[in-house]
Amino acid sequence: MRKRTRNSFSYGSMWMSEAPRLSASISSTLESLMTGAASEDFASAPRSISSSSVLTVSTSPSSSASESMSTSESPTDAIKRGASDIHIEPYEKDLRVRYRIDGILYEMMHPPLRLREAITSRCKIMARLDIAEKRMPQNDRIKIKTRISGKVKDLDYRVSVLPTIFGEKIVMRLLDKANLMLDLTRLGFEAESLRKFEQAILKPYGMVLVTGPTGSGKTNTLYSALQRINTPEVNIITAEDPVEFNLAGINQVQMKEQIGLNFAASLRSFLRQDPNIILVGEIRDFETAEVAIKAAMTGHLVMSTLHTNDAPSTISRLMNMGVEPFLVATSVHLVVAQRLVRRICSYCKEPIEQPPAGLVEIGFKESEARHIRLFRGRGCERCSNTGYKGRVGLYEVMEINDDIRELILSGASAVELRNKAIENGMITLRGSGLQKIRDGATSIEEVVRETVK
Ligand SMILES: [Zn+2]
Repeated sequence: MRKRTRNSFSYGSMWMSEAPRLSASISSTLESLMTGAASEDFASAPRSISSSSVLTVSTSPSSSASESMSTSESPTDAIKRGASDIHIEPYEKDLRVRYRIDGILYEMMHPPLRLREAITSRCKIMARLDIAEKRMPQNDRIKIKTRISGKVKDLDYRVSVLPTIFGEKIVMRLLDKANLMLDLTRLGFEAESLRKFEQAILKPYGMVLVTGPTGSGKTNTLYSALQRINTPEVNIITAEDPVEFNLAGINQVQMKEQIGLNFAASLRSFLRQDPNIILVGEIRDFETAEVAIKAAMTGHLVMSTLHTNDAPSTISRLMNMGVEPFLVATSVHLVVAQRLVRRICSYCKEPIEQPPAGLVEIGFKESEARHIRLFRGRGCERCSNTGYKGRVGLYEVMEINDDIRELILSGASAVELRNKAIENGMITLRGSGLQKIRDGATSIEEVVRETVK
């Protein structure tokens, strides 16, 4: 089996076989970025919502359209490859363009250094940032009309510019609603875990927490949960930083730390807005935790995220912030920990003849290890020879039932909580990963990389 590492540059060489087509596509983009072929369109584009920072770059279907399309070619190429982010990085001797695809960065090309100023300025103009400001970080959102398989789509990007020692680094994050899978049943929850999760979000009060590192798909899970319970009968308000997608029927509030509009302050004002369901982007301090818990205990369903490694340690984290155990025990109803792993490409998936050694070490029972059928992606054009396409979630769902509640009240450690939860049937992150391996959805490498036994 091919060895795969997290940041494997060996992928780069595979990609190089497609280099001519690719670099033609990108260099034409860079050319138009440089010459500013479509700058008129961008410059004259009206702000779609004057009070927000979202821009509409409108392209009329007239003669200017083709020029604008070429400007959007790099994003189009990135989208075709399923990239979530485009990085343009200046170094001492050249520039580097990388795409993040299914969570992993791939080097795409090295444009010459002389293009640096032109590219940076062009991107800043597109994003309506201050091109004269080169010392401070800047960011904004833009909409670019992009042609994807014959159809013109409005795509949202978040553009961030950061001054590094060799010039400004640009990261464009694609905020494509089409990539947002809002169907809870398709995220990767095991049936029993999904049942518990749905039960918790359908309660009229209490707190549901989703935890995991950055980029583990927490927002997607929460948005899917909101989508599930979003009906005209309930008032849903969210405090987000940043608001990534606009969801119809939900009142979304963008945090503005510089004017004091943070999570805690927003939560307090939400309570005067007759809410049923409140989503707060993240609980990272006592102040936010306190208001969130108060809301959860006074007849509101509160959903939020925390940065912890697994579900049981989320409870300890809240108490470390200064929240009383009895408040945690009574307000929190359910904790989900999650990770994303890459899905084996369905176009080149094939069974592995000889099951590899070490299956028992990673958690399979010996009897199962002898017979298990494993799969891998051979590598094909559709997955750019990586053997993976798309991602699937691993979920650890911990219900706060009477057993767990009692342990929390007695000041039990995260380990004790974890053991009790497993005894009560909790599927751990690793367990969820093993299930995905059995299902042929992902590989051992992916599960071992993202979870611990
Ligand atoms: Zn493939």
